[in-house]
Amino acid sequence: MNTGDRIPDKRKYLLENFGRAMQEGWLEVYYQPIIRGSSGRVCGEEALVRWDDPMLGVLNPAEFIPILESVNLIDRLDLYVLEQVIAKLEKFEEIGLYRVVHSVNFSQIDFFSSDIVSEVKQRLEGTSVPPSLIAIDIIESACGTRNETVLSKLQEFHELGFQIWMDDYGNGDLAPILLQQIHFDLLKINMSLVSQLRFNKGARVVSTELVRMAMGLGIEVAAEGVEAEEEVEFLSEIGCAKLQGFYFCKPVSLAELLDRYDKGIQIGFENPDEREYYSTVGHVSLYDLSFASNEENGFIDYFDTLPMAILQVNSEEITLLRCNGNFRKFCYANFSDQRGVSTYYFKSLGNHVGLYAMNAVRQCGVDGKRVIVDERTKNGKMVQTLVDKISQNPVTGMSAVAVVILSVTDIPNSSEDLTYNYIARALAEDYIKLYFVDMEKDEFVEYVSDGKNRDVSVVDRGTNYFDQPELEKYKFVYKEDRPRFIDSFTKENVIRDLNQYGKYTLTYRTVMDGKPTYVNLKAVRVRTDNRHIIIGISNVDAHTREQEAFQRIKEERITFNRIAALSSDFINIYSVDPETGFYEIFKMNPENMLYELEPEGKDFFKESRDRLKEIVYEEDVDSLMKVFTKEHILESIKQRGLFTYTCRIKRIKGGLRYVTMKTALVEELDGPQLIFGLIDVDEQVRKEKEFAEKVSEAEDKAIRDELTGVKNKHAYAIAEEEFNVKIEAGKASEFAIVVCDLNGLKDVNDNFGHQTGDEFIRAGCKIICTVFAHSPVYRVGGDEFVVIAQGADYGNIDKLLENLEKVNVRNKKKKEVTIAVGVSKFDGQSEMSEIFDDADAKMYLNKKRMKKGEPTHH
Ligand code: C2E
Ligand code: MG
Repeated sequence: MNTGDRIPDKRKYLLENFGRAMQEGWLEVYYQPIIRGSSGRVCGEEALVRWDDPMLGVLNPAEFIPILESVNLIDRLDLYVLEQVIAKLEKFEEIGLYRVVHSVNFSQIDFFSSDIVSEVKQRLEGTSVPPSLIAIDIIESACGTRNETVLSKLQEFHELGFQIWMDDYGNGDLAPILLQQIHFDLLKINMSLVSQLRFNKGARVVSTELVRMAMGLGIEVAAEGVEAEEEVEFLSEIGCAKLQGFYFCKPVSLAELLDRYDKGIQIGFENPDEREYYSTVGHVSLYDLSFASNEENGFIDYFDTLPMAILQVNSEEITLLRCNGNFRKFCYANFSDQRGVSTYYFKSLGNHVGLYAMNAVRQCGVDGKRVIVDERTKNGKMVQTLVDKISQNPVTGMSAVAVVILSVTDIPNSSEDLTYNYIARALAEDYIKLYFVDMEKDEFVEYVSDGKNRDVSVVDRGTNYFDQPELEKYKFVYKEDRPRFIDSFTKENVIRDLNQYGKYTLTYRTVMDGKPTYVNLKAVRVRTDNRHIIIGISNVDAHTREQEAFQRIKEERITFNRIAALSSDFINIYSVDPETGFYEIFKMNPENMLYELEPEGKDFFKESRDRLKEIVYEEDVDSLMKVFTKEHILESIKQRGLFTYTCRIKRIKGGLRYVTMKTALVEELDGPQLIFGLIDVDEQVRKEKEFAEKVSEAEDKAIRDELTGVKNKHAYAIAEEEFNVKIEAGKASEFAIVVCDLNGLKDVNDNFGHQTGDEFIRAGCKIICTVFAHSPVYRVGGDEFVVIAQGADYGNIDKLLENLEKVNVRNKKKKEVTIAVGVSKFDGQSEMSEIFDDADAKMYLNKKRMKKGEPTHH
């Protein structure tokens, strides 16, 4: 096959010019990238030599290598290529490009003709290129001889840190057992095997097993000569992580390579930091989860494997990295509208079919937990998917997650087939949030349900469920409901209610989309244990508001009824924001336009005060101004629930009118409001006054002695009663009962008639009233009076009695009325009657003495 052998002239020419070719640079190194399937980036390059002869044109290695081998010059060539590779790697370091491993082909002859290990080692010394960036590439047949020299030198290279690649695997006769004797880092599947994959199932089985075996031994696998997309797909599926071939790129010169870089058309080099991630991702065999078909008589199809894929995911997007053919078929069948799409953005997914599984993939990327999820597809199937994390990219933070479609079944008609998972999820749709709380440890897991996609996912985990810092814990509760929430939602209360009623519930408002929204919190025990509870929070806003509206209508009706009852009397009603003073007219009576503010304004209190000063009757203004202040009104409401004040306003046509201002604080939906009303109470007040006057008049009549105008014996009975109460309570202050009796009324009546008798009584009464000017005087009988001497009269009692004595003396001479008197001071007696009796007895003694003409003074 060697054309060089057949043309003796050419052979001679090449051998004669080999040295020159190296010097003149006719021997040029071309580079062919090796692509990592999982990242699509260049993870290695192979150095391939070309002889660009000025006479013969470009020659392929096959034309000159055997010639050089035959004369033991090949090591010169291979080391020359190595030097070029080192220079290239140094240049890359210089210009700051990522450096990937470079494989250099070494002929079997090199291992015998020179001390190849030290030759190679020397060339790296003093350069920036570590041995790990150089792969010693030898063909399978070179090892096939099992030559000790070759094997020991390979071992030396390995110990120095070089990579060792086996080329052309599957072409020669290397026993697989040898693979574990020599430390190979990578083996390349032979090009002819690759070319048969599309046509030959045997080739597919062999390569699948080859990859499986290599991976089992910890050896990476590459395929060379990859020319078709089907080859890429199949090789990727079976875990052949690295691919080389014209499908990606032909070997190119360094000049062309750099030119392609400049133009941005060269496949990018992989970031060394991502190497491990992509390597792990690339090695997962998508055939590992193959299952025998259950069909009777069905024989096991080698490739009847489950649909499997590896996805790359972060919180925003999900991308298909690798998948097997069955996964592709699965997608084709279920997501026919999504063909060709390999990246989805969560934001724009809407309720796309598969979202639930995709969210599970996202979650698995975060927590690394293997889960099995069920999901309905649009065409009425139930898909069960296994989700498992594989690796995480340290550079991008993205996670690689494997998904395996475990089963696709028709949606069950019978209820037995409904999975627990599915039911739980359907129920969870009602809840905005679910918590699983460990009551002993106070630990919780928070799940959020996304109703439209029937999705429940873990969003948070934590400790101190009942004992988080106040602010954090309660900030989601609407501020007005916070005190109530904090009061009620305690561990103790929850446990108490769970014990008593089997559940704990609480309705409060939380802020959703900026609006206070009613939610219901419900806690129940997990049936199987006493330690865990599930807390669900559901949106009950619509329901609660409906009830609230109903309640409000009811209340409004009451309010309206009340207002209607007053309708003829109210002048106007304002609602006022107690904080800002902003007010709006709520209702006004068109017949009473006298007292009006603007329909709305900024400062109710100030504007009202100004207006009131104008319309209130001058005499009432000062005292009104003292109380009509924001502070006083709010204080009054705080103390008594209401502020009311009655005063007089001026009528348009003159005269005065009584009005009452009433202010109360009501809770409106948008906060507390003061309701201020001005009510016309004129008629009412006037009627009341009239009535009060009449009443007091009547009352007065009942207790007053018609003849003398002093109080009568009823009044004395009332007074006696009042004093008895005070005495009993020990609260009576100093007083004395003075019993007075007019002497000789009977004689006057008998001799001069009743009219003169009446005069006589009046005259006597006048004396008594004059003497005891500061005390109530009662006429208790025809000629008998009682004085309850108090205050100044009590203090001066002796003096007053002397005065009375003087009057008696004077009147006796003039033959006018004289008065017998007896006094008894309150001094621990238990009843008024005791004091009265004492005074009465004294009066009789006095009367006797007076009859005898003895001095009345005692
Ligand atoms: P190899 O090491 O197996 O190199 C791969 C060969 O496959 C290269 O041919 C490459 O151009 C070719 N190739 C890559 N992709 C495809 C593809 O998709 N389709 C096809 N049909 N071919 C593809 P090349 O450059 O002609 O090299 C041939 C062989 O010569 C190499 O086989 C290697 O064994 C040897 N060789 C090349 N350079 C050197 C060298 O510097 N020293 C030694 N000792 N041998 C070398
Ligand atoms: Mg090679």
